[in-house]
Amino acid sequence: MDTVQNLDELRQRIRNWRNAGEKIALVPTMGALHEGHLSLVRLAREKAARTVVSIFVNPKQFAPNEDFATYPRDEEGDLEKLRGLGTDLVYIPEPGSVYADGFSTTVHVDSVSEGLCAVSRPHFFDGVATVVAKLFTRVQPDIAIFGEKDYQQLLVIRRMADDLDLNVEVLGGRIIREPDGLAMSSRNLYLSEEARKKAAIFPQTLSAIAGDAASGEPLGPLIDRALKTLENAGFGIDYIEVRDGETLRPLETVGDRPARVFGAVVLDGTRLIDNWPVV
Ligand code: AMP
Repeated sequence: MDTVQNLDELRQRIRNWRNAGEKIALVPTMGALHEGHLSLVRLAREKAARTVVSIFVNPKQFAPNEDFATYPRDEEGDLEKLRGLGTDLVYIPEPGSVYADGFSTTVHVDSVSEGLCAVSRPHFFDGVATVVAKLFTRVQPDIAIFGEKDYQQLLVIRRMADDLDLNVEVLGGRIIREPDGLAMSSRNLYLSEEARKKAAIFPQTLSAIAGDAASGEPLGPLIDRALKTLENAGFGIDYIEVRDGETLRPLETVGDRPARVFGAVVLDGTRLIDNWPVV
């Protein structure tokens, strides 16, 4: 497994693979890798001859009051985990090379980036779309893999890749959960022991909404009930909504189209997001 920081070196490696006609899959991450990330790497290995994992904590997707400075970083541990999976190349861009002095471009995707996480994190999707556009340009992957855990992000990137003819197939990987149902996340490390135990109520609540919505219960009362459950358990609510699973249009009733329950909550000062399909 190669670890590359320099852009020219990265381009050389990519050129060699392209010349050999090998398909390349990219898994973008911010490091602090867990089984959720590793499942995406395994999927990449199934889909392409060459797997590139990028590790970059992207300052543009954090607001000034957010956790950029304290975001968990564990480069050695990450490399060890990736080595065990047969990753071909880990790209860790040189600090300062991604947003050089004078950097002035923002990629903004309309529609799917409205509502849900964008309400409390208004700069988030521009930051993500901008860095992923750069990663796609640098790595030139045939396939890029994103987790359904960040479902709105997955749709934003897919939209961007289609709209800008980036010629990258954007695939989603299923959500990997802890045994009690909590979606794995690098930020789970922030939770106190007590909060960590309580956190499982969040996915349980989303899954209950999804189950009841599938059996035809009206969404309004279902969501009100869920909000009360979460509030009584000490969660702060960012949003709980049911939306179309492809367009993210808000739904008042579940029909024939795919639907998903989306939620974001704050527990013990830590923001958790998750989603659950209505099937
Ligand atoms: P991050 O490092 O948090 O930016 O995440 C990098 C990628 O891993 C994103 O595409 C996430 O959606 C994905 N990811 C994070 N947690 C999980 C999880 N529990 N299951 C599946 N994918 C995940």
